[in-house]
This record gives sequence, structure tokens and C-alpha cells, in this order.
Amino acid sequence: MQRKKKVPLLEFSNVSAQRGTTTALNDITLSVDLGENAAIIGPNGSGKSTLIKLITRECYPIQNSSESFIKILGETVWDVSRLRSMLGIVSPDLQEICNRRISGRDMVVSGFFSSIGLFPYQYVTEDMIDQANSILDLLNISHLADRSMTDMSAGQARAMLIARALVHDPQALILDEPTSSLDPSATRKFLKSLSELAKAGKSIIMVTHHIHDIIPEIDRIIMIKNGRVFADGSKKELIKESVLSELFSTPVEIQKKDGFYYLLR
Ligand code: ADP
Ligand code: MG
Repeated sequence: MQRKKKVPLLEFSNVSAQRGTTTALNDITLSVDLGENAAIIGPNGSGKSTLIKLITRECYPIQNSSESFIKILGETVWDVSRLRSMLGIVSPDLQEICNRRISGRDMVVSGFFSSIGLFPYQYVTEDMIDQANSILDLLNISHLADRSMTDMSAGQARAMLIARALVHDPQALILDEPTSSLDPSATRKFLKSLSELAKAGKSIIMVTHHIHDIIPEIDRIIMIKNGRVFADGSKKELIKESVLSELFSTPVEIQKKDGFYYLLR
């Protein structure tokens, strides 16, 4: 029997990127298959958000060799609106620009138009509203549908943006620091929703500097340090005190509980 060929969701080959005068990424080569759940971890300033911005085309790679490329679902050339329908991407920058006086439901429905909020020229169908309502239900945030984005907590607003990213039924969700500014209870609730989405078959790619964000469904760990891939492997191999101490340049102690890892110091 022929084995089913894996589809690469993301492929970075010898990719470098400059932010201002800083070389934020230096010769990154990595590949994540569709269906994989992965965490990209590393200290602050290591280049994690730059990696995401290369995918969303908010940053461009330095073209330094013919072997240097970025492929998304096997394609090197893609248009941003098509990309948005294939991948759901939620970042702190997006959250900032979505902090507007728009109801949660309208924010979610606006995902169909790749806009932020709805405009009179857009034709919203019953079907779109039904779909938005069922996603709000799935994420347990239906009670916030009529609340303004400006009157939501950081966690609630973030959940709304995940809902917005899900309207196209993307194959993968890419999240940059998804639990930043959430309190422990909001973090737990949020990670539980992510686990549900992973169980429902979405690829979850999460960028974080907190090991407690690594939901049990994530098995692949990509470590970034000083703009380079520091290590790439399974959770069992890499979520270890010795490796994490080196990654974060400080001695750490970890504890595992219910499939999650916690930093003790
Ligand atoms: P991370 O997400 O891992 O914290 P970033 O990708 O945001 O790291 O940043 C990588 C490097 O690029 C850091 O040294 C940071 O200071 C620098 N950098 C990020 N954004 C900018 C910017 N807009 N202008 C100049 N330098 C930047
Ligand atoms: Mg970042």
C-alpha cells in the first residue's frame, strides 16, 4: 500500500530577515506538515514574531541565495487574501487594530470579507451569520456576541479573533503569544478551546515564550534563539530542564502535570 504523502504546511529554506538594523532571522530552515501541532518557542527578541510576519507578508525575507524560499501549502507565490482563507492567523498586532467599537459578532462576520468590522457595501448573508454563531458557540463565547470589542477583556477579544479566523474553516491556526496578558483562569479556558480545535483536526502552530502554553496536543517543538533554529524535535526530546536552561540562558526547573509543563523557576 502506498503511504499518503504528507503536505507541508510551512516550509522555510535558508530564510533570513532584517528588522531595522537587526538581523532578526538568520538562515532559518524548517518545515511543518499539515496536521501537525507545533510550538515555536524562544526568548523575547529571538525572532519568533518575525517568523510569523514573514508568513503574513508584513516582513519580507532577504533574498540571499537561490535555495532561499518560503512555501505555504506548497506554494511560493500566494496572495494575502487567499492565504487568509487557508490559514487563520491571530497576532497581538491584529488584536490592537481590532480594538474598535464593533460587536463581537460583526467582528467575526467581517472575517468573511477579510475586513475589520462591516461596511455598508458588504453583503452579509444569513448563512454567514449562522456560521459565525456556530463558531461563537463552539468557542463558548456566544454570550459576548453583542458586546463591543472595546468592552471585552484581552482573553475575550482574543477568543473573538480566533472565531473570526475560523470563518473560512482554515486548515491551520497560527497564533503569536496567544496567552499574553491573560490571567490564569482565562489562559486555562483559552488553552482548552485550542485543544478542542486541535482535536477537531485543525493544525495549531503556536508561538510562545511560556512553556505552560504548550497544549497536550502539541508534540513538535521548534526552538528559536538569536534568530536561528536552536533545536527542532519532539516535546519529549526538547522540553527538558537542560535544553530549556540553555534556550533561555538561565537555569530552569520544570514540572509536568496533566499533559502540561510548568516552569517552577
Ligand atoms: P520575538 O517575537 O521572538 O520576541 P521579534 O521577531 O519580535 O522577536 O524580534 C526579533 C528582533 O527584531 C529583535 O531584536 C527586535 O528588537 C527586532 N525588531 C522587531 N521588530 C522591529 C522593528 N519594527 N524595528 C526594528 N527592530 C525590530
Ligand atoms: Mg513576539
